[in-house]
Amino acid sequence: QLITFEGPDGAGKTSVLNGLMPRLNAHLSQPAVLTREPGGTPIAEQIRELILDPANTAMDARTEALLYAASRRQHLVEVIEPALATGRVVICDRFVDSSIAYQGAGRGIGEDAVRAINLFATAGRQPDLTLYLDVPSEVGLARIKAHQGERQYDRLDQEKEAFHLRVRQAYLDLAAASPTRIHTIDATQPLPQVIAACLSVLQQHLVS
Ligand code: C5P
Ligand code: MG
Repeated sequence: QLITFEGPDGAGKTSVLNGLMPRLNAHLSQPAVLTREPGGTPIAEQIRELILDPANTAMDARTEALLYAASRRQHLVEVIEPALATGRVVICDRFVDSSIAYQGAGRGIGEDAVRAINLFATAGRQPDLTLYLDVPSEVGLARIKAHQGERQYDRLDQEKEAFHLRVRQAYLDLAAASPTRIHTIDATQPLPQVIAACLSVLQQHLVS
């Protein structure tokens, strides 16, 4: 089972996953593998550094999309597929939906182009279930501001509000188009409630 977590910046994916994993694992015979992209392996982490380096202001949008797809490929081959092959549940922080939202809508290269390069990168591997942590852009951006200093500054932090509005809208459109795969969680709720909501979706999915 490949389960992905998605959401705009400031949705709280990292905090939710940290709180969720021990509680989820208590229900599983083998602990789930938690991993994240861009990154998750030495090669993929180097690609991540390249993409997120605030100094790389000249990076072209298609270059960025290809680097994300390359990082995803490496992570899939080295981490995700081997874990799935041994029957583990894999929880992945971001996957192709992030590229549709950030590169497709945010950077404006379009959903079709992003889908095409990611079909090549993933050889068709798709998440069995996706939890989309939804927050309005102003809430997400306010959280990021409030936690400045604790977070690593990245190239995305230079983007204007309009970019983040496009990203969030793309996620809402994806969720509406794939209601069976994508479960939307209201991530404006207090953290314990968001974690409980995620756990309930995961339990239903993993038990049935
Ligand atoms: O999920 P995380 O916060 O670690 O993502 C790191 C940065 O990469 C964020 O600023 C996120 O918005 C950005 N990102 C992106 N395109 C992706 C995935 C992540 O711009 N496909
Ligand atoms: Mg982040």
